[in-house]
Amino acid sequence: MSRFAVGVDLGGTKVEACLVDETRKILARKRRPSEPGLGRDRVVANILDLIAETAGGAAYGAVGIGTPGTYQPRDDIMYGAPHTPLYEKPGLVSLLRSRLPVPLIVENDANCLALAEFFAQCYGRFSTVMAVILGTGMGSGLVLGNRLHRGPNGNAGEIGHTSIDIDGRACECGRNGCGEAYLSGPSLGRRYAEISGESLAPEEIFKRFEKGDPAARRIFGESFRVMGELFANCVNALDLEAIVLGGGVSNIPLWYEHVPPIMNKSLFGIPGRNIPILKAVLGDSAGVLGAAYLALRELRLMDF
Ligand SMILES: [Zn+2]
Repeated sequence: MSRFAVGVDLGGTKVEACLVDETRKILARKRRPSEPGLGRDRVVANILDLIAETAGGAAYGAVGIGTPGTYQPRDDIMYGAPHTPLYEKPGLVSLLRSRLPVPLIVENDANCLALAEFFAQCYGRFSTVMAVILGTGMGSGLVLGNRLHRGPNGNAGEIGHTSIDIDGRACECGRNGCGEAYLSGPSLGRRYAEISGESLAPEEIFKRFEKGDPAARRIFGESFRVMGELFANCVNALDLEAIVLGGGVSNIPLWYEHVPPIMNKSLFGIPGRNIPILKAVLGDSAGVLGAAYLALRELRLMDF
């Protein structure tokens, strides 16, 4: 039985791979452009070349790949990946699988991040955790009772598309009041532009907040409440012990101070709970590492 596994993180513009051993140590890590504009065959060739280059001759026994969207084997399509339309056409995964000499495990990239962050900072301390990626969109992954909870269709944990206001802001998904419509990077920018007339990136809005800019204060004040109530819904539904926040928007430090008091005040049932919001610690390594863990599990070298 092989002691080595490969994890792949397939993104819209790049693909990244790592080789790990049975102790979860990263032995090699490489990246290259994914080039979806050049078609499916080119993307698959890029992934295969990158795997071979990263493995460097090591006899890996399985490959895990994290992708945007939810892979549905019946249709061979990744649903819910609107930012990468090529991945929403059939054929990419089955072609890749047919060209690989070892088993391939496909998983949503937010689930991969959740797995990696769970083992990096929660395992042994918390068993039931949600990890949220806040960036261009809002995705999340769930580890419930030390097991990755993907649901029968791999579609569990789409908290970015749960609503906190049925008459709220229109979301790209067609609903109103979704968390993503308030909290994703583009949504924060749009909301700020609506009241100030200026288009700014979230980090710039944060700088304005620190200087006391009224529009920035208003946007973040509302965002703390949206995030607090949304996360409280999740804790109430799933009895979460902690929430991990990752993605570009998670680098704004305000969330960790202002959101927990709002969230914890809205918890139902057992009083006095203090659910922490933890900053993701793995940065952009989380996706590729979580994908490698899926391959290690396939080899029975990890259990989750
Ligand atoms: Zn939505």
